[in-house]
Amino acid sequence: MSPDPSEPALAAHEDAPLRARVERLNFFYADGTQALRGIDMPIPDRQITAMIGPSGCGKSTLLRCFNRMHDLYPGNRYEGRISLFPEGHNLVGAEMDPVMVRLRIGMVFQKPNPFPKSIYENVAAGLRVRGIRNRAVIDAAVEQALRRAALWDEVKDRLTRSAYDLSGGQQQRLCIARALAPNPEILLLDEPTSALDPIATARIEDLVQELGREITILIVTHNMQQAARISSRTAFMYLGELIEFGPTERLFTNPTHPKTEQYITGRYG
Ligand code: ADP
Repeated sequence: MSPDPSEPALAAHEDAPLRARVERLNFFYADGTQALRGIDMPIPDRQITAMIGPSGCGKSTLLRCFNRMHDLYPGNRYEGRISLFPEGHNLVGAEMDPVMVRLRIGMVFQKPNPFPKSIYENVAAGLRVRGIRNRAVIDAAVEQALRRAALWDEVKDRLTRSAYDLSGGQQQRLCIARALAPNPEILLLDEPTSALDPIATARIEDLVQELGREITILIVTHNMQQAARISSRTAFMYLGELIEFGPTERLFTNPTHPKTEQYITGRYG
């Protein structure tokens, strides 16, 4: 039997506890486009995994499978599994309620997208969806989420002001706080700094690294330096396939697949 090319990468991380595992995942958009092809990928627990690859390779599509964003549009279809551990529930299974999945798997988008509400209400929103009504409990959770997002000191005296009064970088940290408030098991970041200036970007990168110690993070980035700086594992995708997965440092310095090497040396993408 010929060896599976993805096996060495998987074997190297057998000792790392997994938070999730993508298994033979295919994804089809409603128009029939197959955007993901047989993805197998371990998601190590409480580490930062970066997804890189040229535009259109399927990074965002894969990220959005984890919290069932694709279910917001009719006709999109998954095949295969994303097992969430320890229970092993299949996140893309028909039996899983997408609303429940989104409470367990938080997401932050490219452009900061706070609700047109106060700073406080933005963070409280996810808790209210969870059915939490007790004001003291919500107050404490809002403060904790804002502290984890490194925003508390800047906003604690103006929690009732509109989220739109904040700078772009602060708004993005607010969106991170909003995603963290329900205590998700995985945090998905879809190019979270692409709309920000270099200083705001550096703050978010520091924050993401800090959060990566306590929560499992998946980040899509077109910025290879960013992937190299903040992630411990990197997945390189091409035309809907996972070409290579491994420790970030190894993947950037000693890629095993020629396509990975071509991409990281800037020969396409
Ligand atoms: P990336 O995030 O790597 O730039 P995407 O996941 O956005 O790539 O896209 C992967 C593929 O899926 C591309 O070929 C893209 O054109 C296609 N695609 C993305 N969104 C849709 C959609 N809503 N309907 C049909 N095809 C789509």
